[in-house]
Amino acid sequence: MAAQLLSGRGIANQIREEMAAEVSRFAQECGRVPSLAVVRAGEDAASVSYTRMLIRTCEQVGIAFEPHILPADVPEEKLISLVRELSASESVDGIIVQEPLPEGCNAEAVIAALDPVKDVDGVHPSNAGRLFQGVGNYYVPATPAGGMELLERYGIPVKGKRAVVVGRSNVVGRPMAMLLLHRHATVTICHSRTENLAEECRRAEILVAATGKPKLITGDMVSPGVVVVDFGVNFLDGQMVGDVDFDSVAEKASWITPVPGGTGPMTNVMLMRNVLMAARARQARAETK
Ligand code: NDP
Repeated sequence: MAAQLLSGRGIANQIREEMAAEVSRFAQECGRVPSLAVVRAGEDAASVSYTRMLIRTCEQVGIAFEPHILPADVPEEKLISLVRELSASESVDGIIVQEPLPEGCNAEAVIAALDPVKDVDGVHPSNAGRLFQGVGNYYVPATPAGGMELLERYGIPVKGKRAVVVGRSNVVGRPMAMLLLHRHATVTICHSRTENLAEECRRAEILVAATGKPKLITGDMVSPGVVVVDFGVNFLDGQMVGDVDFDSVAEKASWITPVPGGTGPMTNVMLMRNVLMAARARQARAETK
């Protein structure tokens, strides 16, 4: 393997310690700890495991956790009224509505019920719009925020580089493309209808994969020296693999995120950062009232 690893584990531990110190400072100054409310409908295995991971990370940094677990078939109106209630609650700083939502539930209507100041997942159109425009205060979805933080902490130059993002979802690909653009990369976004994906990828100096397709990007699709950020979390024969074929791509890349241990560990700690930001925003709002 020629590439160096963009490892997320050590950096995530470092950020977790920084967060714990900042949360403790907030608690001393404001007389309360930041709090995160999580809404989940049903017992989807991946979703349950994500809730558990959130509880653990909250405990580690000292953020209060408020779970709201509803039945899988909860009516849409009930879900929306809970999100409205949490949005108005004095004891909640950040809110996450976990996926999957109940079948037939209108995701847009649920997201619209969120107070944008508490939308720590950055899914409300108000936050997504500000990210698009790059103006004002907004929450960046935690996964792409973690990818950018890795590039930053490893000192990878972004300005002026040709970046190719494969995937255009609202939670990973699209916000990652915007973040790279804000850092002055020249950005191409690819998706399932892109013609000649290999050719597009070979142009990349920074290549981001967020497709959910195991090992989609192979060594023959990248140029020597490329920096690779792989967000993929897939399981092949019981093994976790990324959207990038690690072995063949690492032969040519200069830097690459491993899977597991690359972008994955970053997501939770970046989310905690958003919760603290929400707590500070609410505190500032309360003080000016
Ligand atoms: P989505 O399924 O929402 O989006 C996938 C995107 O990839 C779509 O834009 C789709 O294109 C594109 N795509 C699919 N197949 C191809 C293909 N053959 N060629 C080019 N583009 C393709 O996934 P997410 O964005 O939610 O997640 C992406 C990956 O990131 C997944 O592996 C997920 O598990 C992982 N993930 C990782 C996290 C982390 O913490 N590391 C957190 C969240 C997700 P189109 O729009 O045309 O359909």
